[in-house]
Amino acid sequence: MTGVKLNNITYGYNNTEMVLNNISFTVQQGEFVVAVGPNGAGKSTLLKIIAGLIEPVAGQVLIDNNSIRAAAQQGIIAYVPQHYAQNTAAFPATVEEIVALGLAGTRGKLTAKGAKHIVDHMLEMVGAEQLKGRRIGELSGGQQQRVMVARALAGNPQLLLLDEPTSGIDYAASARIYELLGQLNSTLGITIIMVSHDIENGTRFAAKVACINRHLCFFGDSEEFRSSHASMQHLWYYSGFTG
Ligand code: ADP
Repeated sequence: MTGVKLNNITYGYNNTEMVLNNISFTVQQGEFVVAVGPNGAGKSTLLKIIAGLIEPVAGQVLIDNNSIRAAAQQGIIAYVPQHYAQNTAAFPATVEEIVALGLAGTRGKLTAKGAKHIVDHMLEMVGAEQLKGRRIGELSGGQQQRVMVARALAGNPQLLLLDEPTSGIDYAASARIYELLGQLNSTLGITIIMVSHDIENGTRFAAKVACINRHLCFFGDSEEFRSSHASMQHLWYYSGFTG
């Protein structure tokens, strides 16, 4: 059971300017939500708040009616930050080693054989089993991102938070990453909240859209968003922030 309820989230990096204002919406357990909006709209900031990395100035996030702290202690949240793959690629580690880092929360409870089994299984799930002995830095952007998803899954999360998982990845590889996330959502029932600039693919695989431009411009079904987006696009830019 992992639903996420945002109640009037407000946040500013300084006291004079709020980057998020009264954001409220509820993500049901097992839903796949994409957060879209212009650059500087506050999407990454909101994801960090849901991940419990920064605290809102006002409002609260409830995960299954509990605090984020309680959810984090249970190890049910996995957060994949922006440019994570590119940053990790600098390490001289193999794919297998990177995915095993995702087991950190289960350390002590697993035998080496058990850990290996999970790593193999996660790589298989993201279609990257043949890469396991390769150095992470040698892989393409799309392959690296698959490995990052496998690493996040290794901790057995119920809530997966991804910030621009396809930035810097070519169109075809991006589409395959979205497809993979859609499959993980439908087969494993993991709740996914993903920030994306790719409205076309994002709304194709995520059932719901949260459109953020410092305020919440839209929250609802992707289909409804797609059908209204072409005519409503200008509203993003005139709803308070022009970044
Ligand atoms: P988005 O993800 O929609 O592009 P962000 O959440 O990254 O937007 O940023 C929202 C606003 O907050 C931007 O104006 C950005 O410059 C500012 N901002 C982001 N991170 C910080 C930070 N660590 N310190 C100060 N301002 C920040």
